[in-house]
Amino acid sequence: MISEKLKNLIINEDCNAYFDEPMSLHTSFRIGGKTDCFCEVNTIESLKKIIALCKEENTEYFIIGLGSNLLVSDAGMDGIVIKLGGDFEEIALDGDNIIKCGAGVSLAKLCLFAKNKGLGGAEFAWGIPGSVGGAVYMNAGAYGGEMKDIVVSSHYLDEDSNIREMIGDMHDFSYRHSFYSDKKLTILDVCVKLSPKNKNEIFYLMQDTMDKRKKKQPLNRPSAGSVFKRPKDNYAAALIENCGLKGVSVGDAQVSEKHSGFIVNNGKAKAEDVKALISKVQSVVKEKTGVELECEVKFVGK
Ligand SMILES: Cc1cc2nc3c(=O)[nH]c(=O)nc-3n(C[C@H](O)[C@H](O)[C@H](O)COP(=O)(O)OP(=O)(O)OC[C@H]3O[C@@H](n4cnc5c(N)ncnc54)[C@H](O)[C@@H]3O)c2cc1C
Repeated sequence: MISEKLKNLIINEDCNAYFDEPMSLHTSFRIGGKTDCFCEVNTIESLKKIIALCKEENTEYFIIGLGSNLLVSDAGMDGIVIKLGGDFEEIALDGDNIIKCGAGVSLAKLCLFAKNKGLGGAEFAWGIPGSVGGAVYMNAGAYGGEMKDIVVSSHYLDEDSNIREMIGDMHDFSYRHSFYSDKKLTILDVCVKLSPKNKNEIFYLMQDTMDKRKKKQPLNRPSAGSVFKRPKDNYAAALIENCGLKGVSVGDAQVSEKHSGFIVNNGKAKAEDVKALISKVQSVVKEKTGVELECEVKFVGK
C-alpha cells in the first residue's frame, strides 16, 4: 500500500502512473506479481520529490530500466517501481565524439544515434534489450565489448538526493559489475565516448552482432538473457549442456533448447518455477563439475 499523500504527489507531478500494476508487463521474462505503483517519472524535480517522500514515509522504491535482467517474485513488489522516462530519454552529442544519454535511453536508441552520427564503438550493445542506466549498473557487454570501454562519466542521485558526478575509473567496472551495483543510487545520465567510423562499417557490425544473436539465442521466447555469469575459464551454457540439462523444465520455465545459458518462459512460468529451475541447474552442475554458477539475473520483490 502507498499513502494517499504519495499517490497525490505522483498524480500532481504528471507522471505516467499505474496502480496495482502487474510487473509481468514490465519485464522481458513476462513474469512478476503486482507492484503498488509503476510510475514513469519524467523530470529530475519529480524524481527528487517522489524519492524524498518515499524516504520520509519509509515506502519502498525500486529504479527499473527496461526490466531485461530481472526476475520479479510472484508476490510482486511493495511500494513504487520507478521508470525514468521523459527528460531521461533524451540523447544528444556533447562535445568531441561524446554522446550524452539520459539513463532511460534504450541501448538500441544509443546504437542507432551513434551510427547516424558516424560514431563507432557501441556496436557490441546492439541487441542487448536494456536501458543505458541498466547497462551501466550491470556493466553490460557482449561480443568483446562492454560499457566499461565507452563510458566516460555519469551523474547520479545519491542517498540524500544530491546530484553527483562519477568520472572514468571511479565507475569501478568489472565483469557484470559497477560502482552502482547493489547500491540504492539512481543513475541519471551517462556520457559515452566513441570514435569516428564509416556508417556502413558500423551498420555491418551491428547486423553481424544481431545475426549471431538470432542464430544462438532463443529470441522468440520471453527470458532475461543469460541467467548465469560466466565462470572462470568456462562457459555456463557448455557446463549446463554437458550436464544433460538442456531442455529441462520446471512448470513452464525451461532451460532453452537453443542456448543452455538461457531460461525461457514457455507461457505461464512463475518466478517460483524459474527459481526452482535455477537451483536445480546450480546443484547438478556443482555436483557433476564442481563449478558454482552465480546468477547474473537479479531477483527482486516480496
Ligand atoms: C534476450 C536478451 C539478451 C541479453 N543479452 C545480454 C548481453 O549480451 N549482455 C549483457 O550484459 N546482458 C544481456 N542481457 C541482460 C540485460 O539486457 C542487461 O543486463 C541490461 O543491461 C539490463 O538493463 P535494463 O535497463 O533492462 O535493467 P533492469 O533489468 O531493469 O535492471 C537491472 C538492474 O539495474 C538497475 N538499474 C536500472 N536502471 C537504473 C538506473 N537508472 N539507476 C540505478 N539503477 C538502475 C536496476 O535497479 C536493477 O538492479 C540480455 C537480456 C535479454 C532478455
